[in-house]
Amino acid sequence: MTDTDLLFKDRVVVVTGSGGGLGRVYALEYAKRGAKLLINDLGKTTINRQTYNAADLVVKEIKEKFNGIAIANYDSVDTRGDRIIEQVINEWGRIDVLINNAGILRDKAFNNMTEKEFTNVLDVHLNGSYKLTKKAWSYMKEQNFGRIINTSSPAGLFGNFGQANYSAAKMGLVGFAETLAKEGYKNNIMVNSIAPLARSKMTENVIPKHILKNLGPEKIAPLVLYLTHETTKVTNSIFELAAGFYGQIRWERSAGQIFNPTDENYFTPEAILNKWDDITDFKTDIKPFNKKSHPVELSDYNALITKAK
Ligand code: NAD
Repeated sequence: MTDTDLLFKDRVVVVTGSGGGLGRVYALEYAKRGAKLLINDLGKTTINRQTYNAADLVVKEIKEKFNGIAIANYDSVDTRGDRIIEQVINEWGRIDVLINNAGILRDKAFNNMTEKEFTNVLDVHLNGSYKLTKKAWSYMKEQNFGRIINTSSPAGLFGNFGQANYSAAKMGLVGFAETLAKEGYKNNIMVNSIAPLARSKMTENVIPKHILKNLGPEKIAPLVLYLTHETTKVTNSIFELAAGFYGQIRWERSAGQIFNPTDENYFTPEAILNKWDDITDFKTDIKPFNKKSHPVELSDYNALITKAK
């Protein structure tokens, strides 16, 4: 590592679900760059018929490979997420970077999905991220520094057959991040969402093998580290990344149609029907959320509200 590299010396980083998959790769990269890490995972790993806590193995790997500093945690993010943050506060007195990454799948066509399958997925992804973020937030505000990544998914942004539960949670995480970005900006807390696609336990039986081979998780980590570095001021943004592709996603609003009270039958379903093509015309679109690094404010709607009066 050189002085011009993006270092995380003495930054305290929490990566949930980092006993394997994407989280482990992020954790190793942070450790290589000097961070102190909490490795959270409730999972177990079996090697030669011996079962270990997945988090312990990653802590060991960090120590052996980088002479790094790491502690393990085995709590479930949804029930004990606050304790995870308490553990780093007790250990190191601060929390700089929070990667909300832990996740599960309970895929099933919506018709057959039970309420438990729906809520379990929301609990781990959305409520788990809430629990950690809620506990970390006041510390980040106080220290005037924080970086948070919420892990969304293409399935959340665009929908995917059999993933109503997962999509709801993953889109919820985007909305959660967007509001946090606005509330945290003045305290130098930057919050972004990523929608990755990568080879892991979660995808090994879902994505065909010939595609999986290009989807190395090490291709996701660089953007996560970039977005959470102290010099990065990007916030309120969504990034899609896979196989070495990195792109940004943003919302788009059609040019739309303003109804004039002097028009006959304005504000009626029939008026909507008559103007449908104009309402949904994207030829002259507006990109409401395209500011590079600043949160969008309510005042951005002023032009529309004024025109529509
Ligand atoms: P993975 O299954 O390899 O890793 C997820 C880890 O989270 C596991 O080690 C698991 O034990 C842990 N975990 C599960 N529930 C937990 C809980 N309640 N508390 C603590 N830890 C828990 O999967 P991955 O692909 O590395 O996924 C990481 C994140 O990326 C997930 O949020 C996933 O939804 C998201 N994601 C992954 C892909 C992909 O292509 N791999 C695509 C979109 C989104």
